[in-house]
Amino acid sequence: MNTSALPDTGHLAERAEEALARCGVERLPEPVGAAGTARTPVTGGILFPVEFDTADSTARAITAVQGAFPAWRDTPAPVRGALVRRLGELLREHKEDLAELVTLEAGKIRSEALGEVQEMIDVCEFAVGLSRQLYGRTMPSERPGHRLMETWHPLGVVGVITAFNFPVAVWSWNTCIALVCGDTVVWKPSELTTLTASACHALLMRAARETGAPADVHRVVLGGREVGEALVDDARVALVSATGSTAMGKAVAPRVAARMGRYLLELGGNNAAVVAPSADLDLVMRGSVFAAAGTAGQRCTTLRRLIVHEDVVEEVVERITDAYGRLRDRIGDPFAEDTLVGPLIGERGHTAMRDALARAEADGGRVLVGGSRRLEEAAKDAYYVEPAVVRMPAQTEVVREETFAPILYVLTYRTLEEAVELHNGVPQGLSSAIFTGDQAEAERFLSAAGSDCGIVNVNIGTSGAEIGGAFGGEKETGGGRESGSDSWKAYMRRATNTVNFSGDLPLAQGVRFL
Ligand code: NAD
Repeated sequence: MNTSALPDTGHLAERAEEALARCGVERLPEPVGAAGTARTPVTGGILFPVEFDTADSTARAITAVQGAFPAWRDTPAPVRGALVRRLGELLREHKEDLAELVTLEAGKIRSEALGEVQEMIDVCEFAVGLSRQLYGRTMPSERPGHRLMETWHPLGVVGVITAFNFPVAVWSWNTCIALVCGDTVVWKPSELTTLTASACHALLMRAARETGAPADVHRVVLGGREVGEALVDDARVALVSATGSTAMGKAVAPRVAARMGRYLLELGGNNAAVVAPSADLDLVMRGSVFAAAGTAGQRCTTLRRLIVHEDVVEEVVERITDAYGRLRDRIGDPFAEDTLVGPLIGERGHTAMRDALARAEADGGRVLVGGSRRLEEAAKDAYYVEPAVVRMPAQTEVVREETFAPILYVLTYRTLEEAVELHNGVPQGLSSAIFTGDQAEAERFLSAAGSDCGIVNVNIGTSGAEIGGAFGGEKETGGGRESGSDSWKAYMRRATNTVNFSGDLPLAQGVRFL
């Protein structure tokens, strides 16, 4: 493969415009006032200017979706499901277009970009089914002639803030579920993926027109931190669901809490896999390389630490460095069929990677493979890197941080207790895995005394979760759960109802009064 060739930015801008037009987005207007740009990490070039929102226009968007809330709340949930069903059909129809925009703006290779759009389609299907399953419970009352039950009601306006690395899937996890739950939504996508967001919004608006849903059931506001803050601080936003770095979550949580709002946080991860002596090393190799180097190390679930039993560490390291050697020829243009590693999102990611590697070496780490920048001569503003594997003598401070780039640290252990201690000895708690042929060992890792993460896997890597389960993590990952299982409950409010049909008025706990 010719890795020195990258497409021309002008050509990519044309591709973007065509994909946007097919999704129903007109050429974005020249910005007046608050100006932004759409940029592609594929070449590092500017595609075109984009109009960003202001605090005022964000407040107006909130007013609009708040206005649509009563009608949407009162629409029966299965009828609300029809909007999401239609959205799912449109996403299928425009799968290629949306994947094109994901590759253009986030730099994902084609197959991962298509996979991300598929994830949206899957969420639509899940949400449509859910629209008939927003179950409350009934409980036996302690009083004769009484019924005790719970009912779930829509919350109101949900503010969704998303990160650059999953520009569409995370929107769908939140929005499709929130919509069937009867909420209306204001979405602030990453300032780096505004085109993809505009395309999703246009498709949802088309679905709304075709199914008779209120147009203001959803609004998108474009911009950076200030626009996010306008959502965070507005008391009309009942729930702020924010995905991004732990630093962002630490800024958002106290502000929402100060106005007694609800928040749901999906933040950084520092995910590890334990490799036991009984592990199938073929699975370890395949599972680890995809989880660590896929998406150029820019998934929240990216495998960042491999904790290997000392009896097998040499063989594991040899196999993984060998596979990484083969990846070297597959780094480059994410649109090319045989590329496996696309670009980092930008300079900040590259600087973070370089600094982390230098710190790891200063701590006694040895870079076994990778770490160099590639294709600099082809596009000086694009940041392609060779995924790196670093053998560490200990879990030092740099290993305990999330560096949003493809660095895999290898550590060793002797006993499972030691492995779990290393595994849990980081501030984050998103995804984890154990590779083992020993069932008791797997069960211990899955148990309360094992991994402390929100996602705990056996014989499969840390990334690539399915939508049917609840997604999210503990500690500095923020504690939120989204997507499948009963995550929908975060988007609704629970009312407990006691109905008295006894004709008498017995008080609970045997209390007597009047
Ligand atoms: P980021 O924190 O820089 O930005 C995320 C979003 O938050 C953007 O829309 C940004 O504009 C907004 N934002 C930033 N500061 C804000 C503030 N103070 N108030 C309101 N909004 C604010 O993250 P990123 O670089 O886009 O994404 C990478 C990070 O996201 C990584 O740490 C990754 O692990 C994490 N992530 C987590 C999950 C998850 O589900 N746990 C999923 C994807 C990404």
